[in-house]
Amino acid sequence: MSNAQCVMRNELVPCPLSLVPFIDTHCHLEDENFSADRAEVIARAKSAGVERIINFGSTLRSSVAVAELAKNFSELYAGIGIHPEEIDDFDENTCTRLAELASDEKVVAIGEIGLDYHWEKDSERRLIQQKIFVEQLDLARQLHLPVCVHDRDAHGDTLRILQTEARDLHGVLHCYSGSLETAREVWKLGWLIGVDGPLTFKNSAKVPEVVKAAPRDMLLIETDAPYLAPVPYRGKRNEPAYVVEVAKKLAEVRCETLEEVAAYTTANAQRLYCSVRS
Ligand SMILES: [Zn+2]
Repeated sequence: MSNAQCVMRNELVPCPLSLVPFIDTHCHLEDENFSADRAEVIARAKSAGVERIINFGSTLRSSVAVAELAKNFSELYAGIGIHPEEIDDFDENTCTRLAELASDEKVVAIGEIGLDYHWEKDSERRLIQQKIFVEQLDLARQLHLPVCVHDRDAHGDTLRILQTEARDLHGVLHCYSGSLETAREVWKLGWLIGVDGPLTFKNSAKVPEVVKAAPRDMLLIETDAPYLAPVPYRGKRNEPAYVVEVAKKLAEVRCETLEEVAAYTTANAQRLYCSVRS
């Protein structure tokens, strides 16, 4: 489709809301930033057409918190796991505790787990991150759950671990920040990528190139709230309602309608996290 056709097609959709509901597939509503107005934030998401929200833990404590929130709000689901920046929270009992939490049907994933070399420069501790990442991939396999992976400045090792340890698992590389070349390897494994606020940032040269090339069934939208608010909210507290801004940008970059983006990203989320039904 030419650019002119693309503009015309989007002009035919003046309504900012899609009739198909959105799913914010990654955020942190257990965060203290939402203590004062969590119910209002969820209500605002609903009014914006965001009907399902998946919160991810990063420690055992926050994993308990997201599972608890999912029990209290019908719109919420939970992913549980130990984030690579929180490896000191991981001991020989952690997987047993996580498995107990996962018996709740609203716990739909293991995550966020993975590697973070941006904050961790020590090579020994990076190896510990890798070991804990693999242990939690094993847990996901035992529990038959999909995986949400955090990869910051560790694209090579993350891809290697997915290729060697996770070929039989399903999952997503959330807040994808790697190259198109790496994304193609990720898609070959059948894994998805998650797109959020940075797609809307002016300096996000790599991300639009990746999402343009992505097959429709390989994309999820997310906010990572309270972090990474998309334009026009950049710098403010992020919240699930703003996932619509990510979807709008995705539609613009890929020459699609907002309706189409809502339809396939929601279908992808429901396919990956199969108990998240609208
Ligand atoms: Zn996150």
